[in-house]
Amino acid sequence: MTKATKKPIIEVNNLTKYYPVESGFLYSLLKKEQRYVKAVDDISFNIHEGEIIGLAGESGSGKTTTGEIITQLQDPTSGEIIYKGKETSDLAGKELKNFRKVCQMIFQDPYGTLNPRFTIKRTIEEPLLIHGYKDPEKRLQKIKEAIEKAELRPAEKYMYRYPHELSGGQRQRVAIARGIVLDPKIMVADEPVSMLDVSIRAGVLNLLKSLRDEMGLSMLYVSHDLSTIKYICDRTIIMYLGRIVEIGPTKDVIDKSVHPYTKALIASVPIPDPEISREGAGIEEELPDQIDLPSGCRFSPRCNKATNRCKKEDPKLVKVSEGHYVACLLADKGGDNSSN
Ligand code: ADP
Ligand code: MG
Repeated sequence: MTKATKKPIIEVNNLTKYYPVESGFLYSLLKKEQRYVKAVDDISFNIHEGEIIGLAGESGSGKTTTGEIITQLQDPTSGEIIYKGKETSDLAGKELKNFRKVCQMIFQDPYGTLNPRFTIKRTIEEPLLIHGYKDPEKRLQKIKEAIEKAELRPAEKYMYRYPHELSGGQRQRVAIARGIVLDPKIMVADEPVSMLDVSIRAGVLNLLKSLRDEMGLSMLYVSHDLSTIKYICDRTIIMYLGRIVEIGPTKDVIDKSVHPYTKALIASVPIPDPEISREGAGIEEELPDQIDLPSGCRFSPRCNKATNRCKKEDPKLVKVSEGHYVACLLADKGGDNSSN
């Protein structure tokens, strides 16, 4: 059962992140202008209370950058993230500390996140120490609860072990326990199962779902893998070269996709679902140059439906059905332009 509401907990407005490109000596001598990788280029969307929203796209499309800006691990170039009516980049002192508590991130590689010299208890205790939980008894209680919520039971069996003594799936569960120990409201999970064996992925995905249900978490689930997105996400965003090209309820985006890029992604990823249409070819060519972006629609050089107009005009997101928006000139029949 979905617990998703339509009430936003996080609003992302016109977010951009441009990374300056190091120029060679000759280039700077010629005084050409500074060049940028437009990792995130003017995207807007909301994370609704209690929903799991997927963020998909090929490697390099800007997913991780988006997640890291939301969790304040990186600053944006421009745009804003609103939490409870306040822009998060304006938060300071107590409010900033509180935001860092309520908004947590889990990463792809649990082995890279867990300190190999710390016991599981020590690893999960760290955020509690940072956030001023002074009473050791209270800390121990919270640590045990978090480990058991991550379905490592009984907690005592795992607490005094080291990361290398656990399996990949157990390590990711420890990273999740660390992520939930402060009772967050928002979780950004960046490719949390992509390094795990296929046989244990469903277990971790089910855990994320049950955390949403039991703790009322709202989640941005980042993945290049549409089959896991289809499995747990209420809504899905498809990103291409820093832009949102399609957003909507997962069943619409995946089963009734409109953007040729979404269709190509689906065609190139084996999704174990016979109902999904595989119209159109997969994408074989490489991503275009990320510094000198194609003019017009960024996907047009790889799109087998592209017209001359597509090579000149930059498409905006337009509504195709309730809550479902697509940035493709071929789908644009004019109309509403708000995708939140
Ligand atoms: P994804 O997670 O979808 O694979 P990323 O957000 O990691 O995409 O990266 C988007 C683009 O930004 C890529 O071209 C990447 O090379 C570039 N990029 C990411 N981080 C940096 C950085 N710190 N400095 C320069 N370029 C970066
Ligand atoms: Mg990434």
